[in-house]
Parts: sequence; structure tokens; C-alpha cells
Amino acid sequence: MNSSWRDRFCKKIIVNCELRIVNFLTFVRDMADYLDNGLKYVAGVGEVRAKLLEKELGIGSMRDMLYHFPFRYIDRTKIYQIGEISEAAGLAYVQFRARVTGVSYAGAGRKRRFSVYVSDSTGSAELIWFQGVNWIEKRIEVGREYLIFGKPSFFRGELSIVHPEVENIEKALSRKAESGMQGIYSTTERLSSSLGAKGFYNIICNLWAVAKEHIGETMPPALMRQYGLIPLREALHNIHFPQSPEKLRQAQYRLKFEELLGIQLNIQSQRTDRMSRHNGFLFPKVGEAFNGLYGKLPFPLTGAQKRVIKEIRTDTVSGYQMNRLLQGDVGSGKTVVALLTMLLAVDNGYQACMMAPTEILARQHFATISRLLGGVGVKVAILTGSSKARERRIALEGIADGSVKILIGTHALIEERVKFENLGFVVIDEQHRFGVEQRAKMWTKNSQPPHILVMTATPIPRTLAMTLYGDLDVSIIDELPPNRQPIRTVHYYDSARLRLFGFMRQEIAKGRQVYVVYPLIKESETMDYKDLTDGFESISRDFPLPEYRVAVCHGKQKPEDKEESMRQFKDGEADIMVATSVIEVGVDVPNATVMVIESAERFGLSQLHQLRGRVGRGGEQSYCVLMSGEKLSKEAQLRLEAMCETNDGFRLAELDLKLRGAGDINGTMQSGAAFDLKIANPTLDTQILQVSQSAAIAILADDAALAKPENRGLLQLKQRYSAEKKIDFSMIS
Ligand code: ADP
Ligand code: MG
Repeated sequence: MNSSWRDRFCKKIIVNCELRIVNFLTFVRDMADYLDNGLKYVAGVGEVRAKLLEKELGIGSMRDMLYHFPFRYIDRTKIYQIGEISEAAGLAYVQFRARVTGVSYAGAGRKRRFSVYVSDSTGSAELIWFQGVNWIEKRIEVGREYLIFGKPSFFRGELSIVHPEVENIEKALSRKAESGMQGIYSTTERLSSSLGAKGFYNIICNLWAVAKEHIGETMPPALMRQYGLIPLREALHNIHFPQSPEKLRQAQYRLKFEELLGIQLNIQSQRTDRMSRHNGFLFPKVGEAFNGLYGKLPFPLTGAQKRVIKEIRTDTVSGYQMNRLLQGDVGSGKTVVALLTMLLAVDNGYQACMMAPTEILARQHFATISRLLGGVGVKVAILTGSSKARERRIALEGIADGSVKILIGTHALIEERVKFENLGFVVIDEQHRFGVEQRAKMWTKNSQPPHILVMTATPIPRTLAMTLYGDLDVSIIDELPPNRQPIRTVHYYDSARLRLFGFMRQEIAKGRQVYVVYPLIKESETMDYKDLTDGFESISRDFPLPEYRVAVCHGKQKPEDKEESMRQFKDGEADIMVATSVIEVGVDVPNATVMVIESAERFGLSQLHQLRGRVGRGGEQSYCVLMSGEKLSKEAQLRLEAMCETNDGFRLAELDLKLRGAGDINGTMQSGAAFDLKIANPTLDTQILQVSQSAAIAILADDAALAKPENRGLLQLKQRYSAEKKIDFSMIS
């Protein structure tokens, strides 16, 4: 054998082995993605903070942290002078250099407070610590200059900053930043005491150094070209460390697109799946139940109501399972549409149920529907969390043996022990209080999934509805019943209370009834409750018995008491109903003509509109009075003006979308949403939403299972967004 041949042979084997090893390593890397590693080994994190991050923000892995995006950026190259920082300047964060002129201590023990006084040539400020005093006092030296960063606050025009970041000026100026813009990350109160804005930023820097090499690409090159997307690694780099405003914009676009595409891939394949099954119950017959009610309705249906009933009918004879969202402004008459379509199910040998978000609403639906069905011969029952033994037994036995045809209730209907003989149709009222998970449970209440009709008074575009609620078709009631007089809306400042009371007396003298509603916000429930009880007392004083009767209704009452108050008001035994926003959805008292909303500036636009929808249900002129303090933010002012200008829920919803900031992803519309969004705001990013939807449809049409090698990243992306969000039951009041 000649040696050169031998050499070449060996070399070939070695190269071959190397190639195999490289292949093997790539394989291993793909199997166990580096970014799935925990955070505790990243410099600056450690065991304790890793646990806190997981517990407080759900950040468990390196990937989670990379996908925890800043919600705002501040320009760290900008150094203010104290004189420039005023309340009017409206700065969220400021950075300035100043010299320490003195320190002082106040309080003792846990109430201890440490103040540092600083000044520059243009003014002075106070820096305040309530926590970590021992640590910070050692680091502050009178006479030295520092770079100070934090959230400004003002007391009588004097600048102060609580828990600022403070750094030696020499050290600060020598530091090389990743970028001029520093991300500010959302955090929680518990976390922020151990991890400030800068701490967070530092961790991200350290993480980036080790993680950047391991960021793969999720999108095939063709798709990136088609939609003008920058690579994932570049996007993640710029979202955390923007190299320029333009780069930041591209990064946001890429990441929003990716997120919405991940969601759309799930929705669209669920849809294809649903449409390929042919397992929808068939309701071909229009029989006694439907015709029995239709023939004796106290009013003719509007054109829009008829159209929607037709749409639902088409679905229920198609062989596919229906999954439909019914949108209609408050008072547009959704209930009767729901009832007629439930009767279609009954006519075809199926049972139907209707789920409402609150006890009061469920009881009201039960009363309305029982009344409408008087003489039609369809048995209706009710089941709620507070149903007594008898009521519960009637409901449970009746639906199990099939004698009860329509069951109305709250989320108690989802419970395991609620077993229908043959459930074919489910109505969910006021969807924003329910999540997809609940809907999914209803799917399992029969051998095949029943048809689902979801009703909401918050109008939203179809793509948006799908992103928020999953795969749905949309019907719209865009017409109010005739002879409705538009509600007159006015805005009063609190100082005009006497005028308000005079007006209320006038209306009550005409035999009408009045609502007075107080805000109820979860975080400050006790305070709100106090507002309500104070309000109740003051109204009882100004509207004394026996001339006036005042009822009260709020979430802290026992269900029986709440119900009794509502009954009194409904039956005209009370003239005034003082309530929290528990009455927000759906209560129907046609004789009530005045809706007074206290602290109206604290409500969102759609909530205000919902509340206003409680009046104007009879033939009389109705009024809505928005009460507010004198000092209003610009946004609150705009909301109140819009309310006074229009009664059109669709227009208000549009404006609401415009007024909401990008950070407000957790607004009312999002609660109960199907997907947990990190960067896209489906109410603002409507265009990206549409584009991502058509992209998803095209991708799946070509490769439904995402089995092609170039779609591997997309498959992972889809899986990442397939998990459904947990539902917060405490939202259901
Ligand atoms: P929402 O869509 O807000 O749930 P409801 O179903 O509670 O509205 O209907 C509001 C009121 O309008 C009810 O008192 C109902 O009886 C009445 N209504 C519904 N449809 C019509 C109609 N076609 N003509 C007249 N009144 C109607
Ligand atoms: Mg309703």
C-alpha cells in the first residue's frame, strides 16, 4: 500500500467521523435546547432571584427571560438638570447628576426613612429610602457627586425620588452601555424590592452574552422575505438593546408578527380540524317550541335579529359544529335570539343551556325566559353556585332524565356533576367574563360537542375576536329595536351634586327609577366599598323614607340579599338602586330612566357604555349622568366627552381602541382571552393581526401538519403558543 494513499484514506475516515460528530452534536443541541435552561446560573440571578422570577412573573427559563420584553425605553444618554424636571414635563423616568448636600433619618424600626438631599446648579431634590437603608447609607457620602435615576414625584412642586438608583459619577460615566436606550421591564412589587430597573437590565445583559449564540430561527427564509421580517436573533437583540429607533421598530414588528402567527397557526388548524369532522348535531326541524314562541312574541323581530337567527340555522343544518360569536350593542335584543335558537335545539330532541357571568344575570334570564315560554310547554330550570338543595335537585334530575329542556345558570353549569341527557346547544352570555377553557369544558358535555353561541356587547373585528377567544365565526346585530329614544348623557362635576339630586327627584316624581353606580376595582375593593356605603348613607339622607325607598346591591352582600335588592328594584318597590358595577351586565328594568355613574373618570369607555345601556329600555326618555372630580386626565376627559357625544357602541369601541395605550394589554377585553400575549396588542396591531392570519392560512394550506423540514421552526412556534391561558375565576363577580 502506498503511503500517500493510506494517508488520504485515514484522512477521509477522520473527516467522516468529524462530520458525524458535528451532526450528532447539532442533533443533541436541537433535542435539548440551550434556551430551556434555568436562569439561576446567569450572572446576577442566583437561586433566590430565579425562584422569585418564576413565582412572580412566570419566568423559568432563559427563553422566558428573552421573551420578557421591555414595556418602555428610556434614553440613558440624556442627563437632565434638576431645573428641567417639573411636574408639567410629565417625565416617567429621569436621570440627573447632583451633589449630596446632607442626609437625615426619620421614624424608627420598620417605619424608618432615610433622606438624601442633593442639588445641582439649577435646583435641589430629595431622595428617599424606606427599605434597604442599612445598605444605602454606607454608599452615600456628603459632598460627592452621583448619577441618579428614578421616577420623579412632586410634593408642593418639590422634586423627590423614592428608591432611586444611585451611582458614583466617575463609575457611571466610564460604563459602556449596550445601547443608548435602556429597556424598562414590568415587574411586581415583591420582585422590585430585590431587583430594580437596573438590576433587571443587568441580568438581561448577562443573559444576552451567553444566550445569543443559541437563538435559532423560527421562520423559513421565504416567509421572512415575503413579510420583510428581520432575523430572530437581531430582533431579540434590538428589542432589549435598541441600536436605533428604526431597528427597534423592525424588532417589534418581527416579534409581534411571530407571536400572532404562532397563535393564528393554532386557531386556523383548530378550525380546519373542526370543519373536517362533520360531527355537528343537526337541527333540521322547526317545530312547536320555536313556532310556539315565535307566534306570540310581544314585538316583531328586527331585520338584524332575523338575519342572525338564519345564520345560526344555516350552521345547525350544515353538519359542522357551530362556534359562533354574536355581537350586538346593549339593548339590541340578543336574549330573544338566543332563546329562539335554543328552541330549535329543543324541537330536534336536544337540550340547551345558557350560561351567564353572574348570579343576578342568570336569575334575570331565568325569569325573562320562563315568562316568555309561559304556555309553550318547554321546561326550564336554573342552577347557580348558590342554588338551594331543592332548586339544585330539580335542575340536576331534570336535565339528567331529559324532562328539563333548557337549563340556565352561572359557571356552575360547567361542573362535572352537571350531566345532560342530550345537550345540543350552549349559549354563553357576555363572553368577556369567560375563558376558552370553560367553553372547552362545555364541549365535553355530550358524546359530540354541542353547538356554541357566545354573546357579547363589546363589538370587535373578527380576527381580533379569534385571537381573543379562539376559532369563532361572527354574527352582528347592528340594529336597535324601533322606538328607542337615544339616551341623553351629561357630565357633571361633583360640585353640581345639588342639581343632580334635584333632577333625580323630578324623575322619581314622574314614577321613574334611578340607578346610582359606584366603581369597583379589584385592587382597592375596601376603599370602593367605603365609597359605596358613604354614598348610600348620603343618598338615604337626601332621599328619606317614606317618600323615597333606596335599595343597595354590591358584591359583598350575601347572594340572597343581593337578589332581594334587585327584586325590589325590578318590581318597583325601590326608587333608587345604589350599586357597584356588579349590575354592569345585562340587568333589565325598563322603568329605570336615570343612570348616575359616580367617579365616572375611573371607568373604561366600554364599561361606561355598558352601564348606560341599563337605561333607555322602555319608551321613556332616559338619561345618563356622569359624575366626576374636577381634576381629570386628558384621556378621562376624552372618554367622558365621547360618552356625551354618541350612543353608538361600535363607535365608542373604536375610540376605546385608540385611547388605550400599548401597555394596557390587560384591559377589560383581554381578561378571559384565549392567549397570553407578550408583545402584540391585538386591539392596536390590527394590521399585523390580519397579515399573520393570511400567512397562517397559506402556510397550513401548503403543509397542514407543518411536517416539511423548512417548517420545523414554525411547528415549534405553534407548539409554544398552544397552551391556553388559565382563567381567573375571581374576575367573575
Ligand atoms: P341585550 O342585547 O343587551 O341582551 P336584551 O335581549 O336584554 O338586550 O333586550 C333588551 C330589551 O329589548 C328587552 O326588554 C327586550 O324584550 C327588548 N326587545 C328585544 N327585541 C326586541 C324587538 N325586536 N322589538 C322590541 N323590543 C325588543
Ligand atoms: Mg344581555
